[in-house]
Amino acid sequence: MIYLDNNATTRIDDEVFEAMLPYLKESYGNASSIQHKLGREANQAIEEARKKIASYLGVSPKEIYFTSGATEAINWVLRGIFARYQSIGKHIITAKTEHKAVLSTLEILAKQGAEITFLQVDSNGNISLDELESQIRKDTILISLMAANNETGVIHPITEIGNLAKKHNILFFSDTTQLIGKESIELNKSNIDICCFSAHKMHGPKGVGGIFIRRKSRPIQLEPLITGGKQENGMRGGTYNTASIVGIGKAFSIASSHETEQLLSLRNYFEEKIIQTIENCSVHAKAVPRLGNTSNIHFKHVKSSELMSALTNIAISSGSACVSGDRDPSHVLTAMGIASDDALCSVRFSFSKYTTKEELDTAIQSIEAAVKKIRNQSPIWQLYKANLI
Ligand code: PLP
Repeated sequence: MIYLDNNATTRIDDEVFEAMLPYLKESYGNASSIQHKLGREANQAIEEARKKIASYLGVSPKEIYFTSGATEAINWVLRGIFARYQSIGKHIITAKTEHKAVLSTLEILAKQGAEITFLQVDSNGNISLDELESQIRKDTILISLMAANNETGVIHPITEIGNLAKKHNILFFSDTTQLIGKESIELNKSNIDICCFSAHKMHGPKGVGGIFIRRKSRPIQLEPLITGGKQENGMRGGTYNTASIVGIGKAFSIASSHETEQLLSLRNYFEEKIIQTIENCSVHAKAVPRLGNTSNIHFKHVKSSELMSALTNIAISSGSACVSGDRDPSHVLTAMGIASDDALCSVRFSFSKYTTKEELDTAIQSIEAAVKKIRNQSPIWQLYKANLI
């Protein structure tokens, strides 16, 4: 199996796996039971992991909170902010291309009285900073814009968005789930107030992630989402998932900028070669800053569902894993003005440090054969080739 679906999830790194094992076997204490040695060991391991994440992000360990992943983090941030700040204002700005974790949570908040502005994006998936500023109102409490899109890899100008948020004294939350671990991010130099991350997107285990909440002179007030024990300063109850937290700490400590360059070179190789090899295919948002590991490719008149079932040796996806059972075209591509038919003929390829050029060569050969076969059997393709449509 050639695995090119790394934006859905990544293979766990052996070093991460090894680091987790002792906390599943011998060191199984509850990290809150600090009266005894096993509990203290677990507690110490969690604080070490927190330090590793903080060091990678260039922030204080006190600004890091653990969750079960990015979806929980996003729910916590959006619901928690609305709960605390709705007496000041009910207006939230986001974009149509956000992950469903953001969009569906905001849909629920809208039913509770939140007023949501969805920014349009251009054909490259970019928002306009002028439009963003013009949509800011006196009652705007939050700007929620992702750092990098999971389907196209398009990177938003988070520094400029943060500067605008600061200028207007509005909180800025960025869903950085896909960016963190792939591109360097300097939170201390940005005006991001809150962001989130997820271990399984960066060779860590599934089911663990977290949020960064900037400590400011006027502290950010976030209502807890999960209440219970006093874990995470009473901000997120529930027994610590020690082994997974150790795993995410390790994943952060081994993520390196060397990988970013390696991924970019793989992506460029793949895109050049596939465009040369297969007629009528193109890369979405090719000319704008994108994640170095993501290619979203349109194959004219080849339904992604047909292509994926023909490619039994390759793991790819037609969009976000959370909606890949959907028959609807991607909300991200259609928001970019791409026709539904073309969106349904688009496939996401996402690479990781384990992807090799040889795998990409084999994948392109298989894709070429599958595309030819599908097009040969397609009346629409014949009409298209005969210039009749
Ligand atoms: N946000 C983005 C941009 C994502 O790509 C994902 C995962 O697909 C999530 C949020 C949700 O992450 P998790 O699987 O940790 O809940």
